[in-house]
Amino acid sequence: MRETAVPFGAWSAEFRAALAGDGATDVPCGTCTACCSASQFVHIEPDELDALAVIPAALRFPAPGLPAGNVLLGYDEHGRCPLLGAQGCTIYDVRPRACRTYDCRVFAATGLSGRLAAEADKAAIAERAGSWRFVAEDERAERALDAVRRAAAYLGEHPEVFTDVGRVPPSTTGRAVLAVEVSELFRPHDASPSPDEVRAALRARS
Ligand code: SF4
Repeated sequence: MRETAVPFGAWSAEFRAALAGDGATDVPCGTCTACCSASQFVHIEPDELDALAVIPAALRFPAPGLPAGNVLLGYDEHGRCPLLGAQGCTIYDVRPRACRTYDCRVFAATGLSGRLAAEADKAAIAERAGSWRFVAEDERAERALDAVRRAAAYLGEHPEVFTDVGRVPPSTTGRAVLAVEVSELFRPHDASPSPDEVRAALRARS
């Protein structure tokens, strides 16, 4: 697969904004539908009225462990989103927030593409993620990219920062997103945050 260069600083700003609810990621997916065909549940929150209005009730079910009103959209026997049509997403303009913020470039940014490839039904996403090659626009972006990668490694090596507070260590996808969100703690290069500092950062973003 041909490599595509991605400027890290610009990508990071857009991705963080999307996570904060300000806009959507703008992945140049082309004809790829790997993440729509990877046996993934899509979480839809109670305030997502536009999405809920077009997703048939028969396709939704209550999200385990979350307050009433939170639902999941499942997938068909082939692992495909039931709303994925021959020409792509059939509800694109009102797609759920989870889809708006999904960005396989996060696996390349965090160095977790290889780990994702080992998960069931995620090989195609990992392959696509492997096509992105991050480039730092300047020294600041270089430090930020390094911090994201060290944060991702830390979260994998220290599952106790989750289990100590009664949480399950996240999937590779969750770990990649959290690594971006807590990466400030890992700047500069020799920063070595304590487990308590990481726990506090994780609590602050949840
Ligand atoms: S795997 Fe990546 S490129 Fe493919 S559809 Fe999903 S976000 Fe787009």
